[in-house]
Amino acid sequence: MLAPRAVNDNSSGPAVQSLMRVRGRQLQDSPAAPGTASDSFMRRVYLDHSATTPIDARVLEAMLPYLTENFGNASSVHMFGQEARAAVDKARRQVAALVGASSNEIVFTSGGTEANNLAVEGACEALRAHGRHIIISAIEHPSVRSVAEKLEASGYELTSLPVSDDGLVRVNDLRAALRPDTVLVSVMLANNEIGTIQPIREIGEFLRDESARGRRHLLFHTDAVQAAGRVAIDVNELGCDLLALSAHKIYAPKGVGALFIRRGVRISAQQVGGHQERERRAGTESVANIAGFGAAAELAGTEADQRNQHVRELRDRFEQLVSETISDVVYNGNRERRLPHISNISFRFIEGEGLLIHLDMNGIAVSTGSACSSGTLEPSPVILALGRGDELARGSIRFSFGKDNTREDVTYVVDRLQSSVAALRALSPLTRERVSLAPQPAPSG
Ligand code: PLP
Repeated sequence: MLAPRAVNDNSSGPAVQSLMRVRGRQLQDSPAAPGTASDSFMRRVYLDHSATTPIDARVLEAMLPYLTENFGNASSVHMFGQEARAAVDKARRQVAALVGASSNEIVFTSGGTEANNLAVEGACEALRAHGRHIIISAIEHPSVRSVAEKLEASGYELTSLPVSDDGLVRVNDLRAALRPDTVLVSVMLANNEIGTIQPIREIGEFLRDESARGRRHLLFHTDAVQAAGRVAIDVNELGCDLLALSAHKIYAPKGVGALFIRRGVRISAQQVGGHQERERRAGTESVANIAGFGAAAELAGTEADQRNQHVRELRDRFEQLVSETISDVVYNGNRERRLPHISNISFRFIEGEGLLIHLDMNGIAVSTGSACSSGTLEPSPVILALGRGDELARGSIRFSFGKDNTREDVTYVVDRLQSSVAALRALSPLTRERVSLAPQPAPSG
């Protein structure tokens, strides 16, 4: 089996890279905005909201003053600085409210990656004297997995919890893996490829019982980057000590995120310098981005039910139409315990990357967890972790819906998907093998 390789939300194999170069040149040559004459002949449908979301107009409005007249540094004592400080404080309250935390438990970072890195490395460094064993799940995002592997290379022991064939961690596996020297458990709240929602509350309860029994040096981190704004989060109900967030998944700008650090929990700062963020993360705050994150967090809280109902309806209709019109598909991930906007499907006999390119040619943006390395397509480690074979792991595509998608988008995508799958299957050696293995009719005469 190929060693699982870090996969990002935007796969970037050679085929995809060359497509991106072509697209980049096309955009440089004619940077037409969507809806203008030069692109009006092609419908564009964005179904990659788990990779990133567009900035909501109300979020942009909240940011603009801090990109223009209120440009102060939030650490400055003068009036300009105080205006910026007030914006950061407001956003801290808004982000805290989204996850049921107190505002002084929120540390702003440059995004979800930094928040996860800070949680894992910062916790392990702070608890170094108490143990060197870390537990993560087999389907963590690379921003957790890679830092855990880095610690492993420096002498820590790492246990990766398996998941069930529908993508869920089992608390009993965690119970069996826990050791006296375990200092950190990190299990994501919802998976970025298949959307499965993990039993974080049960894990939190179990770990709280452990600490009530005297285990004082064990922290619980959860990566809530995909879940935030889509499932209700209350850090006290979940029982986590650390929780990572990212703004650009909830219609806010890229390059800003946050780490919830429970009051009383000590972790070692990884970025040092100034005294910002109460010495937990040095660096001048990105005020406009933070203001946007705050506004988006508030909107995500108030509009969650409406957004979820909308994307769930689209996603379910999409899956129903796919099932009715395309054969040999396999749905990945638990059908109930999953985020409402994600559909992950493996299309037998074809490679996901080829399908992604085909769909892009039709103006449709989706993503694949497979990745190319040294010219070979590597299957998605998340799909492999479900126990699916290489073929299904290579043939998987993630469709992730957003609040601005429509029913017409769904109809268009299913139509193009059907023709793309048929075209690729007609060329696929895997289909030909299947046909040649199929029972042959008895020769007549
Ligand atoms: N964690 C998960 C589950 C993600 O999906 C992502 C991004 O796709 C990240 C972390 C990293 O967040 P960011 O892009 O803000 O660095």
